[in-house]
Amino acid sequence: MSPEPLLTDPKPRLQDRFGRVASKLRLSVTDRCNLRCLYCMPAEGLAWQPKTEILSFEEILTLVGIFSQLGIEQIRLTGGEPLLRQDLPQLVAALGQLPLKKIALTSNGILLPELMPALYRAGLRSLNISLDSLLPARFAQLTRRDDYDRVLAGLAHLENYPDLAIKLNVVVLRGFNADEALPFAELAREKAWSVRFIEFMPLGKSDGWLPTEVVPGETLRQEIAAIYPLLPIEAAGANPASRWCFADGAPGEIGLINSVSEPFCQSCNRIRLTADGMLRNCLFSTQELNLKAPLREGASTAELSALILNWVAQKEAGHQINQVGFERPLRSMSQIGG
Ligand code: SF4
Repeated sequence: MSPEPLLTDPKPRLQDRFGRVASKLRLSVTDRCNLRCLYCMPAEGLAWQPKTEILSFEEILTLVGIFSQLGIEQIRLTGGEPLLRQDLPQLVAALGQLPLKKIALTSNGILLPELMPALYRAGLRSLNISLDSLLPARFAQLTRRDDYDRVLAGLAHLENYPDLAIKLNVVVLRGFNADEALPFAELAREKAWSVRFIEFMPLGKSDGWLPTEVVPGETLRQEIAAIYPLLPIEAAGANPASRWCFADGAPGEIGLINSVSEPFCQSCNRIRLTADGMLRNCLFSTQELNLKAPLREGASTAELSALILNWVAQKEAGHQINQVGFERPLRSMSQIGG
């Protein structure tokens, strides 16, 4: 059911009190995951939301329809692990009918061989794969699952789709996988992929995060550049990653998401919708807007739009990670969608 058109002119925009305009929505479609990453959840997992609390495809399409009317141009499907959401290709196909410029997905890659053919037919052309180590034993230690080979099989399967934009996301933990920057850079060169190194952020239930555990992206850049000189392509801003290409012309690129050491909140254009229908202005928000309740109570497009516009207008300046009194969000990464 597509929302009634918003008969307002000019078209309202998702602008906050700092003048930033949201154009990207990270849309979590499930809180469930088939891995148990140390920095995200405890070994026993988390209490999954009951299915009745998770937005149905129809509810997602109604809300995304409204968001697109308000200026959202890009959707990133996340989880938990989004490939665990049944019939995900149907949702991708339906989202493809909305006036969106891009639909992308972030996955741990395990279920790709089974689902990629249908996702590709549904129109998916942009994928980020989370892989924090190229060492099977270290992968198993970090994820508490012995699925390294399945992730590699998922990545290998992607090579069947030459027009797919593939990025690897690597969360870097000091004393754990910080010594793998060069092997990942070599993989980027070999596969012509974009490998993005993400600074460790305090978002897990029991992640042991300390500022000292963070490896600044700049450190990794210097390490790589010492062997493979890098040239800047783009600074972090509209996109969270600063991008670097290889000076010798080799394919592939390096991305750095330095959320902690070099925050880029001043140009943030992202908002998030959780799988259970909560609108979050920031990854680190401690407040969220319940859109599920008014939606299920039959609120009109105009009423829902007004709620969304008003909420985004109050968006916080940015995360306070480096500030005294930093308050962690109550939700873990898997319950927000990263
Ligand atoms: S921390 Fe929040 S405000 Fe800053 S870039 Fe991330 S989502 Fe945007």
